[in-house]
Amino acid sequence: MKLIGTRGEQAVSAEEAVVRGIAENGGLYVPESFPVLSADEFSALLPMDYPERVACILGKFFENFGREELLGALREAYGRFEEDDPAPLVRMDNGTYLLELFHGPTCAFKDMALTVLPYLLKKSAEVLGIKETFLVLAATSGDTGKAALEGFKNSEGVKVMVFYPEEGVSKMQKLQMGTTEGENVNVVAVRGNFDDCQRGVKKIFASAETREKLLQKGVRLCSANSINFGRLVPQIAYYFSAYCDLVTSAQIQMGDKVDFAVPTGNFGNILAAYYAMRMGLPVGKLLCASNRNNVLTDFFRSGVYDAKRPLYRSMSPSMDILVSSNLERLLFEITGRDCALTAERMRSLQKTGKYSVTEKEQNALRELFFADFATEDDTVECIYDFFEDYGYPMDTHTGVAMCVAERYLETLEKDPKAEKHPMVVVSTASPYKFPQDVLYALTGNDVKDSFKGVKRIHLLTAMKVPESLKAIRYKPILFKTTVSPDKMLDEVLKFA
Ligand SMILES: *Cc1c(COP(=O)(O)O)cnc(C)c1O
Repeated sequence: MKLIGTRGEQAVSAEEAVVRGIAENGGLYVPESFPVLSADEFSALLPMDYPERVACILGKFFENFGREELLGALREAYGRFEEDDPAPLVRMDNGTYLLELFHGPTCAFKDMALTVLPYLLKKSAEVLGIKETFLVLAATSGDTGKAALEGFKNSEGVKVMVFYPEEGVSKMQKLQMGTTEGENVNVVAVRGNFDDCQRGVKKIFASAETREKLLQKGVRLCSANSINFGRLVPQIAYYFSAYCDLVTSAQIQMGDKVDFAVPTGNFGNILAAYYAMRMGLPVGKLLCASNRNNVLTDFFRSGVYDAKRPLYRSMSPSMDILVSSNLERLLFEITGRDCALTAERMRSLQKTGKYSVTEKEQNALRELFFADFATEDDTVECIYDFFEDYGYPMDTHTGVAMCVAERYLETLEKDPKAEKHPMVVVSTASPYKFPQDVLYALTGNDVKDSFKGVKRIHLLTAMKVPESLKAIRYKPILFKTTVSPDKMLDEVLKFA
């Protein structure tokens, strides 16, 4: 499988795309064409377990990997999850489904791909004959960082370094990152918000001088952010898997359309749903759910992407983002794969903080996407009501998606011609990962201490507390460095 860049780069192999992370002129790697599953291939997924399903999807892109070895690596990766099924689909009494993607080592959906990325990277390096040490860099709004640290820690031939906004992540997320053990890891707080972190990391990647300096030390930069194609592919798999579970449990028949509601930040998760559709998954609507940082909602409604606005902190910090990087990949598709136009829009975004799409493109987007946002109050109310009605505690990010899903269903009620499909709400984090805000939503009570929050939620809901979160309570904080954005490069050079 060849990949091309959204801003017009030469085609590379999937292995090269993983190793490079981002194309040299700043574009993102996308498949030259989407590998569509034949009816037989799709049916073959039905009786499979989760790692086997993922192996089939990955195999479509990484043709040089041996199937048995790949499956072995996937079994090991998903063996680190606390449930036998890494992506269970849970049916609620109101007929919606929750796709729980938070049973991995860091209790958020980032684990679905970041437990697998180390293997993809190492195997790609092997296929390409690369000998240097990798330095994996990630900017994080909270969850990517810890998932990358867990994925890559103690991995041979790899170092991993994470930058997070000092005031932009939850206490539990900060604790999770700060307590990571391992010889090859580093965590640095940045004075600024997530966009500052992401910009800083992108700048380091874009500097030929920095890359050269590092190569002389035998170090090669690699990205663990969702701009890396290796992050996207494992995410495509859970949409297929959820669909298969609906078929095997006789909730739908093969070919029926399904809607997905996705709590969205950097647009990686929902883009994977779009890619799944392009590969043959019967999708009705994709619901792009934002929190009060509703740049995407405005974009889908008005056709104007306008990042020039304040970034608010919210109780769903992993979605506190103004520049959703992966939207570039969708733009590329809706322009009919026009590299020059995509590049120009991205230049405009960088220069003026804005770009707009044509009315025709806007209509094409509306065919497939429904976008809306939930305020903080909406989210709290939705989590409370949902627990009261169905006894199911959702995390704050999932609460945003559920709120938008409910609103979408209300708009359908008003439209007699509307097609209704089963709704899968993607649940991206364990409620125990954001214990203070979840407890507040459930009871109206504030607690200062995260672990007290965990205990109270447990008493109230009887939901099992993830072992990984219990364990960090008594671990020492190992990383205390805070820098301003212009000093991020210095930290990278020091660590390398
Ligand atoms: C990262 C994250 C999101 C947003 O996902 P994107 O792929 O960035 O759109 C939503 N919820 C949680 C819990 C996350 O960690």
